[in-house]
Amino acid sequence: MRIPSDSHSHSNFSHDGKERAVTLIERAKSLGLEYYAITEHLDRDYKYCRSERFIPQLRLPAYYRSVEKLREKYAESDTYVAFGVEAGFCPEVVDWYLKMLPRYRFDVIINSIHTMDGGDAYFGKIFAGKTQSEVYNRYLDLLLESVKVPYDYDIVGHIGYVTRYVSFENYTLCQEEYADKIDALLKEIIARDKTIEINTHIRHKEMMFLPERKILERYYELGGRNVTFSSDAHLAESIGHRYEMVRNLAKEIGFTHWTVYKMRKPHKIEIE
Ligand SMILES: [Zn+2]
Ligand SMILES: [Zn+2]
Repeated sequence: MRIPSDSHSHSNFSHDGKERAVTLIERAKSLGLEYYAITEHLDRDYKYCRSERFIPQLRLPAYYRSVEKLREKYAESDTYVAFGVEAGFCPEVVDWYLKMLPRYRFDVIINSIHTMDGGDAYFGKIFAGKTQSEVYNRYLDLLLESVKVPYDYDIVGHIGYVTRYVSFENYTLCQEEYADKIDALLKEIIARDKTIEINTHIRHKEMMFLPERKILERYYELGGRNVTFSSDAHLAESIGHRYEMVRNLAKEIGFTHWTVYKMRKPHKIEIE
């Protein structure tokens, strides 16, 4: 199946990226993508974490110099190559993003939560001694706060991120207890005309993508129409990962287009 677009990936400018941007772009071109985005980690929130603060931060000026060169190199390409960042939210970083993000002419900005109260959920430690109710309520409160930030962004990253890493028996966010908070979140995203990504970078026994299907269905039911496909690839071979599955899911729910961003403006690509 032809893959039309992929809105989220990382080259070795990101601390956990493995390959050079050109390697990723050449792969996207060979797959025939119409639109492909590199969105490096901008983890300013790591500065407020116990261990993650030692992980090197993205050097924005150096990254942007490379973006300018690559834009020139691929100006005539059939694949539109977009460049942006995935800005990690925590309440302390709002002013810094407000000041720094407008300094660069990016195509797309993803607003993601990885850290909660001083640690990345990826490393699991933040869940120690906490109940599911405590973790999920705190996460959903932060998520709503992140959607309301005053800095400009386009895509809400991997809703449900913490559920990838918890060891609670019933990991799903789609439980009665959280329904009101999920509704409030989705309504806020719709009111602000932001886009939800369907992210397939997940290793889990049951979940193949985020957010969960029921959340996507609820978003559609409430009037949300802006979705985008995101492999969140950290390797060239992962570009377009599980596209067919996500495309079928999106069509079944009723979505007709992917929303992608070029120079911060939304464009629609038909879901074939
Ligand atoms: Zn992320
Ligand atoms: Zn990512």
